[in-house]
Amino acid sequence: MKEEHNNIYSVFDELLQREDKQVLLKQRSKVIWMTGLSGSGKTTIAKYLERKLHDQGFLTQVLDGDNVRTGINNNLGFSEEDRTENIRRISEVSKLFLNCGVITINSFVSPTNAIRKQARDIIGKEDFLEIFIDTPLEVCESRDVKGLYAKARKGEIKDFTGISAPFEKPDNAVLTVQTKNKTIEESGEELLQFILKKINI
Ligand code: ADP
Repeated sequence: MKEEHNNIYSVFDELLQREDKQVLLKQRSKVIWMTGLSGSGKTTIAKYLERKLHDQGFLTQVLDGDNVRTGINNNLGFSEEDRTENIRRISEVSKLFLNCGVITINSFVSPTNAIRKQARDIIGKEDFLEIFIDTPLEVCESRDVKGLYAKARKGEIKDFTGISAPFEKPDNAVLTVQTKNKTIEESGEELLQFILKKINI
């Protein structure tokens, strides 16, 4: 009787594992880490992907500047130190989702190999899917979605990636998606088909 009690107790003493959550959700969790210039299409493709995955029954969470910089990272600026801390927190949050079986879709410029390595080291290379949204600077600048390139050209924003700060093309991307002369559906679908192979149980 005592032994039985101990057994029951020990079950409740353990946290459920990631595997248990993945079985519940019928998906394999991953962190989809999109990197690319401002205006390259990360946010647009993230929205496309989230909608399509949702329609097929996958649980996802988009992480981007809008929901991270205004919330958990609202005390961080753009100094070198703060950028590192920004990525560290995003990576740790992604890891919590990962352990909960949830697929995160992250869109951050993350301009250097060092920054992306930092994220990969925290998340783990098996689960970190680095996707390069490869749009030429001229195209991003002509789109100028938020008017940031015009400001950067006038010197109103300092250290703007592509203009006054470098963007290093990724060495470790598992997929490169182009958007120049492509529709959102074409670019989004390329990523969707690649991701489905990674998340299907
Ligand atoms: P980022 O998040 O990388 O800063 P956004 O997604 O906010 O970029 O902006 C990309 C812009 O490019 C949007 O206005 C989008 O409509 C446009 N666009 C044109 N073609 C594509 C494509 N094939 N894929 C993604 N975005 C595209």
